[in-house]
Amino acid sequence: MNKKVVRYAILWFSVMAIIVLGFTAYAYMSVKDFLDETTSTVVLIVGVVVILALGIAIAGVTAFIIAMNKDKEGDEKQMANVIYGSEVAKELKDQMKQEIEVIQASHKRVPTLCVILVGNNPASVSYVTGKERACAEIGLGSKMIHLDENTSEEKLIELVEECNHDESIDGILVQLPLPNHINEKNVLLRIDPDKDVDGLHPINVGRLHLGEDGFVPCTPQGIMELLKRMHVQINGKRAVVIGRSNLVGNPVARLLMNENATVTICHSKTENIEAICKQADILVVAIGKAKYVTKDFVKEGAFVIDVGVNRNEEGKLVGDVDFDNVIEHVSAITPVPKGVGPMTITMLLKNTIKAYNNKESI
Ligand code: NAP
Repeated sequence: MNKKVVRYAILWFSVMAIIVLGFTAYAYMSVKDFLDETTSTVVLIVGVVVILALGIAIAGVTAFIIAMNKDKEGDEKQMANVIYGSEVAKELKDQMKQEIEVIQASHKRVPTLCVILVGNNPASVSYVTGKERACAEIGLGSKMIHLDENTSEEKLIELVEECNHDESIDGILVQLPLPNHINEKNVLLRIDPDKDVDGLHPINVGRLHLGEDGFVPCTPQGIMELLKRMHVQINGKRAVVIGRSNLVGNPVARLLMNENATVTICHSKTENIEAICKQADILVVAIGKAKYVTKDFVKEGAFVIDVGVNRNEEGKLVGDVDFDNVIEHVSAITPVPKGVGPMTITMLLKNTIKAYNNKESI
């Protein structure tokens, strides 16, 4: 801001100096014939000093006011462009909390999520703790099952089957990744598709691709919710998704296509990726490469969703998009952190309530 004030002050000072000096010269020329030499010199000096001082003061104050207003405009633009998933998530959680209070008031059992964790992967432990906390926040029931690192695949599947038959459990989530000796696909396949709140069972993947109702993975679902909140028109628009994982890229591309966007998926082998991305009205980035997407990838006025979660050299969380580099070129963007991340857990809660409602309405 200081540099801006100095620039404006210099500009205004120059303008005022030219006007003031011109005026003074004109005034002096008009009266000089009526004054003796000494008086005319004194008048000239005093006149120049007083008027210049006045000019500088006016220029300084004007420049300061203009610079402050420009700064404010810039800040407002930047604020309006950033879509905080954390705020949307809070709103949605408040709504779900009320929904659960209504269920409780009617003396029914509360919707319940069961999370199964195998081993002690620190990231997984922290994710599971976050899920448990989120359940408690809105009054959702939660059951956390922590198994030993050496638990066999058979034992884990046996537990999943027990949860499938447990009437008090509505949603089941097996925290990934599983230890190497367990085949994830075998386990996910055994979760009851109607309790598969993570949306990774092939039946739910199929439902999504057939455009049928089912459970959609939480991160892509959260992204769609954010786009709605951003009032983004999806119908007929050009969307590009970078990343083709089953967890994010593929399902979000399908969701966008189900909403009538024309979708292109890019991945690590895509040629001319910048040019393809530059055509996108909606750009979703889910690759896991810090600040990979710069303004060269972004069409002016695009909506950008940054899914990536990476740590930079200072250990800070950063997204896949170079936020500062693109912010002035986009209509809206999600930040990292506080963007897509908080929406993921919120959608897990939403899916659990949906599983409960599906069951209770039978
Ligand atoms: P993933 O399974 O590792 O998939 C990454 C995808 O990105 C792959 O399809 C890969 O292409 C593509 N890719 C990698 N480098 C690329 C490059 N230079 N150019 C173009 N494409 C490239 O990762 P993921 O599970 O989808 O997660 C992606 C990111 O999102 C990660 O940072 C993850 O931490 C984050 N994430 C965040 C949340 C959240 O809630 N905020 C949830 C899930 C994931 P190939 O298929 O050709 O290898």
